[in-house]
Amino acid sequence: MSKAIAEVIEAIQSRHHFVVVSHQNIDGDGIGALLSFYALLSSLNKHVVMVNDGNVPYFCRFLPDTEKILSYEDFCKAHLAKGHPFETLIVVDCSNLSRLGKMSEMVKAFSFIINVDHHPDNSFFGNVNWVVPEASSTMLVYTLFKEMGVALNKSVASSILNGLISDTGGFSFVEVDSKMFTVLEDLVAHGASVSESMRHNFRFRRSEALKLLGRALERLVYDGDSGISYTYLVRQDFVELHAEAEDTEGIVDYGLYIPGAEISILFRETEEKVFKVSLRAQGEREVLSIAHHFGGGGHLKAAGFKIAGELEVVIQEVLGLVQNVLYGPKTAMR
Ligand code: AMP
Ligand code: MN
Ligand code: MN
Repeated sequence: MSKAIAEVIEAIQSRHHFVVVSHQNIDGDGIGALLSFYALLSSLNKHVVMVNDGNVPYFCRFLPDTEKILSYEDFCKAHLAKGHPFETLIVVDCSNLSRLGKMSEMVKAFSFIINVDHHPDNSFFGNVNWVVPEASSTMLVYTLFKEMGVALNKSVASSILNGLISDTGGFSFVEVDSKMFTVLEDLVAHGASVSESMRHNFRFRRSEALKLLGRALERLVYDGDSGISYTYLVRQDFVELHAEAEDTEGIVDYGLYIPGAEISILFRETEEKVFKVSLRAQGEREVLSIAHHFGGGGHLKAAGFKIAGELEVVIQEVLGLVQNVLYGPKTAMR
């Protein structure tokens, strides 16, 4: 057992009141980690609540106990404002405190922070930090279940599996090794459904999301020389198609479907002239250095950042940097 995991276990065992959170705009691995950590602490008879900034996406709501997740507003009303009894904040699948969104405001109310994550650029903001970039975030929670001798059940197994499926793109980003198969066998034996989780992650989207995907695909630009795909969505698209932020989930992945594509970029306007940029890479390429250049972060193959400016200017600036950093100076994309 590593020193870091031993510290996490010791911190859990010696404490009683917990709040568990994950990053804002929560996704399939964040919610899997949140729910399974909640289940771990509940099994240990700890007092624990889950809090989230923003929506739980509808395609994650098939998971057990999502209705128990408190919005940050409700949590503040019910607990924080009244002098809450929580001592320990557990932060899962979150590289730094600013990624907590509005929830970062409550961090100072806690005397102890446990940071369990898999982002290579994690800032080690906790009193205890267990960061394993090679692992899916719910694999870390699975390891805690095993190391602490806590039994799995169908709910926990489903949440852990959902994180594995979401984080690996349905086991397509990296090879499934025998260790993963052993874990999958264990999760399935406890009642987790691979097909249910695969369907909700990749084939369960409301019509507004499909229309939004169509809009993004219509505009997709692919440069065969560089292997870069990009597309964009502006606020008007969301208004016209009655789409929400959660409807963008998975859209950036399509840029990598094209044979030869190595990098995919989605520019999404969140406020007027402010863009959230999602980056994906496959093969030998990485996009984390691009995200860091613009003040963002993430993983080697999946990263993001925010940038302000006119759409055309932002696109040219980002494409220019991608070309320069990854391929050396080159002529502009067609
Ligand atoms: P997304 O494109 O939003 O799905 O994000 C892909 C990855 O990049 C996730 O691991 C995020 O945690 C990370 N990421 C996205 N946006 C940011 C940001 N502004 N700052 C740091 N990390 C980010
Ligand atoms: Mn996540
Ligand atoms: Mn993650």
